[in-house]
Parts: sequence; C-alpha cells; structure tokens
Amino acid sequence: MYQVTPSPVVATASASSVAGDALSLSSVWQSLAPTLQTDLGAENYAAWLANLRVHTQTETGLVLAAPTTFIAQWVQSNYLERLEDLFSQAAGRPVNLTLQVVPTFASLQSAASAPLLPVAVPQAQPQPEWLNSSRMDPRHTFAQFVTGKSNQFAFAAAQSVAESLVSGGQTYNPLFFHGGVGLGKTHLMQAIGHAVQAAKPNSTILYLTAEQFLLKFIRALKDKNTLAFKEAFRKVDILMVDDFQFIAGRESSQEEFFHTFNTLMQDGKHLIFTADKSPHELANIEERLKSRLGSGLTVELHAPDEETRLAILQSKAETIGYAVPADVLQLLAGHIASNVRELEGALNRVIAYARLTGEELTTTLAREQLRDLFRVYNHVVTIDDIQQKVATQFNVRVSDMHSPRRAREVARPRQVAMYLAKQLTSRSYPDIGRAFGGRDHTTVIHACETITALLTRDAQLAEQVQMVTRTLQGRG
Ligand code: ADP
Ligand code: MG
Repeated sequence: MYQVTPSPVVATASASSVAGDALSLSSVWQSLAPTLQTDLGAENYAAWLANLRVHTQTETGLVLAAPTTFIAQWVQSNYLERLEDLFSQAAGRPVNLTLQVVPTFASLQSAASAPLLPVAVPQAQPQPEWLNSSRMDPRHTFAQFVTGKSNQFAFAAAQSVAESLVSGGQTYNPLFFHGGVGLGKTHLMQAIGHAVQAAKPNSTILYLTAEQFLLKFIRALKDKNTLAFKEAFRKVDILMVDDFQFIAGRESSQEEFFHTFNTLMQDGKHLIFTADKSPHELANIEERLKSRLGSGLTVELHAPDEETRLAILQSKAETIGYAVPADVLQLLAGHIASNVRELEGALNRVIAYARLTGEELTTTLAREQLRDLFRVYNHVVTIDDIQQKVATQFNVRVSDMHSPRRAREVARPRQVAMYLAKQLTSRSYPDIGRAFGGRDHTTVIHACETITALLTRDAQLAEQVQMVTRTLQGRG
C-alpha cells in the first residue's frame, strides 16, 4: 500500500522540477515543529513525526518520507489530517500530504546503510529505565475493590491468579479482562500486581498500556535496538498490557507483539490483558493472536447493579473522609448507572463543591450540581429510538433498518444506527444484530468499524451522527 523506494534516497535530493518551492515548503515543515510538539505532545512528536522528512513536491502538495511502513501507517491513520490542516494554514494554501516509505534515509540521518532491524547482538545494555518503574496506581488494590454480581467472578479470577502467582502454582495464562469503560478492568489487573509485589518483592512486574508498548517498540526500532527491547521483556515475571484494543489494526506491531508474547509464554512468564472486547470480538486483530489471547481465561466485567453502586459510593466516601448523607448516595447510585468511573467522578464533584462553598451536601445540591449527568441518564436510549431518529435524519424508512436491502443509501444509515446502538445502549453485538432484521453479530462489528473509520474523515457524516446522538440523549 505504501510505495517503498528501493535504493538509498536522501531526503530532498531526488526532488522534482519544482525544487525551489519544495525547499520553501520544507522550511514550512521545519517551522511547524514547535506547533506540532505542543499540539500532539512532545512524546508523540518524537516518536512519530520527528521521523519524517520532506521527500518531493507534487502538484498539490508534498510527499513526506517515513523510514518504515509502520511509521508511515501510524502517521497516516493518526496524524495526517491534522498535519495537512496545520501545513495548509502555514503555507497559506491547501497542501496535500502523502507518505512514502524510504527505508534508507532512516530517521537516523546516517549515511550507513545499516538494516533497520539489527541482526548483531548489541553489547550488554543496562536495564531500560521503564522496566523499573511500574507506574501502578497504589489505590488499585483488592481491598479497595467492592464486589457485587457484576464483578464477582472477575474478582475471584483475579484473586485466584494472584494466589497462584505467589505460591508458584499453575494458573490461567493469559488472563484476559474485558468490558466497557470504567468498570474496573485496570483496577483488578493492578490489584494482582500489588498482591504479588507485596508477597514477592523481588518479582519484576511490568504494567503498560498498549499505547506505551507501541511507543517503546517504535523507539526501539528507531534506535535500532529491538533486540534489547525484546530482551528487556524477558526479565519480566508478569507482563500486564492494558487496553489491548489499541494494538488492533497495526499489523507490524501485532506481529512483533505476537512473537514477544509467544516467547514470554514459553519462558513461563505470566500475562494479563484488558480490552474493551473479548479476544474473539476484537476487530482488526489477526486470528492467531486472537486465539492465543483467548487461550487462558477470559472474564467479562459488567456494569454494577444499583446495590453495588451504592456500596461503591459508600466505600469511596469513606476513603475520602467526608460524611455524605445516605439519601445523597442513594440518589447518585440510582441515577448514574453507566460505570464506576462516572460514579466516582460525580461523588468527587459534589463533595468538592460542598467543601469549597461550605454549603450543606443535600440531594437538592447534588441534583443541581449534577444536572448535566442526570439529564443524560434520565433518558434511556433504546434501539427502537435509534432506528427511528436515524431513519428521520437520513431520510429512509424505519423498515429499511430491518430489510435485507444492501443499496448504499439504506445500508449506510443502517450501519450508523448499529454503531449508535453499540455506543448508546448496553446491548451486545448479537442482540443488536437481531434488532436489525436478524443480522449476524459480525455484520454489526463490521458496521461499527466502518462508521468509526468514516467519522474521522467524513465531516458531514460526523455532524449527522452528532445531531442524532444529541436528539437521542435529549440534549438536542
Ligand atoms: P476500566 O479499566 O475498566 O476502564 P478502571 O479500573 O480504571 O476501569 O476503573 C475506573 C475507576 O473506578 C477507578 O478509579 C477504579 O478504582 C474504580 N472502580 C472500578 N470498579 C470498582 C469497584 N468494584 N470497586 C471500587 N472501585 C472501583
Ligand atoms: Mg482501564
């Protein structure tokens, strides 16, 4: 998909006939560096954009050279639009950016034609700094985790794995937690880490988000140090990768991950993952990786019921050390049903308000302060609502939502409705499929992916989807 220039090409040397302009656009590129660093974050800039060079000028813009396919793909899907905007603004005219893989100019700017992936073993390396800093939240312990029907099984699984890891017994490997946001996946995963660390202080436990894993991997590629990267993981006893869905769709990193993963398993290391979906439902992940991920124990976390929500609130209020009246806790537990993070956020908000103003924390005050949250949750969105509102917005019939017709003008709105059903209700993929004329769950997954991708590049569609969402949530 990316053209790879085979022979060594130095950034702008082979430039086109309009080299002059290319040079000036190239200085625009340089001048953008500080803006990009603030806009995207210094770490992201260093990992991705600092690797690009101006390659050639085209009629409508510029070709940027990236040192590897991986970097090209990443920039393409994450930063290209933003880059084009900034670039066009700076240049005072629309500039179209494309990426080309030019392996040998190698981010490293060295004339050497060293391969990007070193084959020689590097000299003994000091242990990378990131291996020592485990960055787990000290509050994420088993003791602070409140259990109820929704999370009992996940809690028991986590405890059992922690116990086996401490006693050296056999256990589920990998352990895979999945479920919606704010339901306690990260908390439970780290609770295992804390428990093992406390009982066996010498064990090496590494907690990483999938994004951090990717950043470290790409840095290793850039520094020609992938071997040291892999070796570093071998020092780890327990590897935890949080929000694994983030690796989806990145082919080259999946490949790397798969190998690292297999090596670690063979070496008898323990792996724990979290993701928003089960391994089987994860989109854009290679089949063999899916089945490997699902080969241990997979546990789903569900949204807590009202009783558990109340227990969680009581426990949090106690930790904060503020005497919150029972009716206020009851009110929050009754209204904020989506996830624990929001529940916690709402409690923090009302307590902070009461503390700062000195007002008494009553249900009236809580209602007043949480008006925005309550409005959304008072309004339960159903798939029926979604189908009707989407049909109106896109000017199709509600019956088209169920019909087998596949023409684009009905298929697209139907996909939007499926996407919104996943976003705005707690129904599963198979459930949603059934509500759309008995479609298969894979059709729904495909719809969600298609719309997610389209929303990043189709502004009109994005606006329509936003409008429907607002209407559905009663904010319209
Ligand atoms: P996820 O990783 O699933 O998005 P987190 O583990 O980050 O969710 O949880 C969100 C917040 O809610 C965290 O502050 C966490 O400590 C808290 N939390 C989640 N579940 C519970 C629970 N059962 N008991 C106490 N706190 C919880
Ligand atoms: Mg999390």
